[in-house]
Amino acid sequence: MLMVLHPEAHRTSFAFEAILRCLQQYHLRYTLHPQTTHLELVLQGDFPPIETLATLPGVIRITPIPSPYRLLATTNSSSGFTYQGVSFSQHDFHCMIGLCAVDTPVHVEAVMQRLQQLGQTCTRMGAYKPRTSPYTFQGHGRSCLPYIFELAGKYGIRVIAMEVMDASHIDEINEALAITGSSTGVMLQIGTRNCQNYSLLQAVGSQTKFPVLLKRGFGISLHESLMAAEYIAHAGNPNIVFCLRGIKSLAAAPHRNLADFAQVPLVKRLTRMPVCVDPSHAIGVGDVGIEGISDIHHAAAQGVIAGANLLLVDCHPHPAHAWVDGHQALTLEGLVPFLEDMALVRTTYLKRCTLLGQGA
Ligand code: PEP
Ligand code: MN
Repeated sequence: MLMVLHPEAHRTSFAFEAILRCLQQYHLRYTLHPQTTHLELVLQGDFPPIETLATLPGVIRITPIPSPYRLLATTNSSSGFTYQGVSFSQHDFHCMIGLCAVDTPVHVEAVMQRLQQLGQTCTRMGAYKPRTSPYTFQGHGRSCLPYIFELAGKYGIRVIAMEVMDASHIDEINEALAITGSSTGVMLQIGTRNCQNYSLLQAVGSQTKFPVLLKRGFGISLHESLMAAEYIAHAGNPNIVFCLRGIKSLAAAPHRNLADFAQVPLVKRLTRMPVCVDPSHAIGVGDVGIEGISDIHHAAAQGVIAGANLLLVDCHPHPAHAWVDGHQALTLEGLVPFLEDMALVRTTYLKRCTLLGQGA
């Protein structure tokens, strides 16, 4: 919502102070837009009845901000959702670390066991893999779902990000969950290649059992990717996480993609979706910088320091033997330093919010 103030309500006036106190009381966040004749505040949060704010001295009017993101614009309702007891919002922070592609039950178990030891409740597990070449491993598909879900239940994993490439995959996930006692949950991932596959977007949008993690398209504008998210919401499912994963560009080489994590605050401002970053697929190499920190760590940190709410990260017990994307996978031994590093950066982000902004 846009709050337009009377010219007399300049920044230092009592009226302005009273307005800010009122916004604070309702936990509303605001951004100041200084105009030549009057002040404008862009408000975000859960709104009390509009009259409560519109009748404050100094307020001329409160109007909705016209946004192309009709359902996902920040102003439409509160941010976020809870799934499997885990809260996903623009205020939360979670890691989804796991196998890019599920290969063996032993590796699934090794990863999940380690995640549980480290207090993690979310992971990623690729069963259906979109591959550039038809001659490479395409994922085990439905056959690996039962053991993934059973092991998730065993190790207290509550949410698994899992890519689907066809509506039939949602049915297969549903069936496998049912036969394994629904002891875990799935966040349906739409990969970058399918960001504009509108029938798939309709399919994940026309069910509300599973939330959706939508990856931005690798070669389209941010607006086009956000509109893809809007398709999902329009079909009926507003529980969407938006994931930045870099854009395809020759300028990125030798990295796999050009990281676009500076857009985290932009997506959070334009929409109410929690924002995820995927440093593994953005960077795509395991190279280490001069200080001994890998480029993937650095990219992950760039996303988190900018306010990312989730990290989607590849790891593998034996990266050299992984069937897909081993070169970009963290090892199990690397998880403790990774999580400690991210906790450090998240704490710094929260301090930045207090120092420079209005809190997280
Ligand atoms: C993945 O996360 O496994 C993946 C294929 O990513 P992307 O769609 O971003 O390439
Ligand atoms: Mn991958």
